[in-house]
Amino acid sequence: MSDGLPALSERHVDPAAYPPGVAFMDGQYLPMREARVSVLDYGFLHSDATYDVAHVWGGAFFRLDAHLDRFFRNIGKLHMTIPYARDEVAEILHNCVALSGLRESYVEFICTRGTSPTFSRDPREAVNRFIAFAIPFGSVANPEQMERGLRVAVSEVVRISPVSVDATVKNYHWLDLVSGLYDAYARGAETAVLLDANGNIAEGPGFNVFAVKDGAITTPDYGVLLGITRQTIFDICAGCGIACAAGVLSRDALAGADEVFITSTAGGVMPVAEVDGRAIGDGAAGPITRRIKDSYWALHDAPAHRSVVAYPEERHDV
Ligand code: PLP
Repeated sequence: MSDGLPALSERHVDPAAYPPGVAFMDGQYLPMREARVSVLDYGFLHSDATYDVAHVWGGAFFRLDAHLDRFFRNIGKLHMTIPYARDEVAEILHNCVALSGLRESYVEFICTRGTSPTFSRDPREAVNRFIAFAIPFGSVANPEQMERGLRVAVSEVVRISPVSVDATVKNYHWLDLVSGLYDAYARGAETAVLLDANGNIAEGPGFNVFAVKDGAITTPDYGVLLGITRQTIFDICAGCGIACAAGVLSRDALAGADEVFITSTAGGVMPVAEVDGRAIGDGAAGPITRRIKDSYWALHDAPAHRSVVAYPEERHDV
């Protein structure tokens, strides 16, 4: 196969085969394979939903408060309501992880527009739905890519304009990002970075982009999700005196950077080795990227950022 994947006929997946994990929906905790939504849910039909993803590392959530802040801000922006207060959502997320037993977990929580009993077209008549789940930790970059750096292509697909869809509301409008991935694969790259309508770098499928030049770091400020990992990079840089600012990052500045890395809750700080077939720096993770990556993982031990999960075998109150 030209795409390096097995033939389609060999790719049949048992529809009941899901990652292990625990979901919460409609007031119940369920094994992951049993968590299903109605096809009439507007989250599915119209991508009318917002979500957030936090991770658990070493048995503790990292910056859960920041994820909850973003989630509640975004459901407010979309005129959605859920029947759970912030501390109840935190408890549900903790329970999903505790019941799953996962010490390293990818924890997603979603609010969909939901369904309307009359299939009304008026979004105000829909009953919004809250869903959460904890599955094994996943990363944008696999271990080999983490080691040698990702090969990235700048896609010709333009990122959906923030004038149309508020990029700060974490959303499932991913057709541009997915088209960008196919564009990248066709050019021999492993992932894509999309441009904004002005031709500057925006973001990629599930990550923010950072470029290092002469010791100073720039990340795009327009048309991007305000990543929690991105904010953590600002905090780390402020703490150790590295200049790091959000601003315009041109395509040429990305290609000519000394170091490039991408960031996501799904993977943390991930080095980029190549942009459009040209090596960045000497083609391996540079010193600033390595330093920031180490600081990022060290910060997971900071009590202020940890929210420790009480796994059933460690609880004495049940
Ligand atoms: N940009 C997009 C489009 C994303 O989907 C994500 C995360 O999934 C990010 C950036 C990174 O955000 P965070 O650091 O909060 O995971």
